[in-house]
Amino acid sequence: MNTLNNAQVAVVTGASRGIGAAVAQRLAKDGFAVAINYASSAGEADALVAGLTAAGAQAIAVKADVSNADDVRRMFEITEQQLGKVDVLVNNAGVLKTVPLADTSDALYSQTFDINVRGTFNTLREAAARMNDGGRIVNFSSTTLALNMPGYAIYNATKAAVEAFTHVFAKELRGRNITVNAVAPGPIATSLFLDGKTDEQIQNFAKMPPLQRLGQPEDIASVVAFLAGADSGWVNGQILRANGGLA
Ligand code: NAP
Repeated sequence: MNTLNNAQVAVVTGASRGIGAAVAQRLAKDGFAVAINYASSAGEADALVAGLTAAGAQAIAVKADVSNADDVRRMFEITEQQLGKVDVLVNNAGVLKTVPLADTSDALYSQTFDINVRGTFNTLREAAARMNDGGRIVNFSSTTLALNMPGYAIYNATKAAVEAFTHVFAKELRGRNITVNAVAPGPIATSLFLDGKTDEQIQNFAKMPPLQRLGQPEDIASVVAFLAGADSGWVNGQILRANGGLA
């Protein structure tokens, strides 16, 4: 139980826009006090907080680059001070740039691993010491890991690492009653997916799942809400693909 309020507290990384923003909105609707993390999109994070607060929810925006361990420590400290001890951690922050492996620069390799892998590592390590027992951790993988499409080598490697963290960390938290799972979305209509693609490429992706459409951020937010909520209590160490049946 948190001392500052009666609501359970959720931290959502990369929640200024895209899937993270939809997750933050959904968790706030479900009654969580939500810390909305962002790296650079302060205006969007502040607008999201204003909207949630106006609707009666508790929400704060917290600037932190998840790839920086000091930032992540501060993010947990600020959340604890302003909302209470953390019950739910959603490791949503991530980046994608598709480039053939042979053409990938050292800088892109480092940036992708720093945000997707080190970022998740930083928050998991901090969460181990700080989260309430009985909590929930939801990491973010991707269905691209199952598709092995050209251009996705570095990104998929980062998501394979996230899946490995998920399986092992679930076991390392034995005795704490904290579950650790990951959601692996298929194509979702956010800037991460849409930017740099032609209309034809986007339509081709939309036709791939048997449900014949792109996913929307809310499709993933509802899966995260399940994994973050009471009904998923017996689901632990699992990767849940949410992709309309694509793979
Ligand atoms: P998005 O629209 O590009 O949003 C990314 C979010 O991450 C933004 O809020 C961004 O905030 C934040 N972010 C980026 N770098 C950060 C950092 N270093 N520290 C903290 N926050 C950071 O992406 P999305 O599509 O919502 O993707 C969310 C997650 O879903 C990612 O892990 C992605 O790999 C995964 N995913 C997406 C898809 C898809 O099709 N969209 C499919 C499978 C998996 P700032 O703007 O402030 O930097």
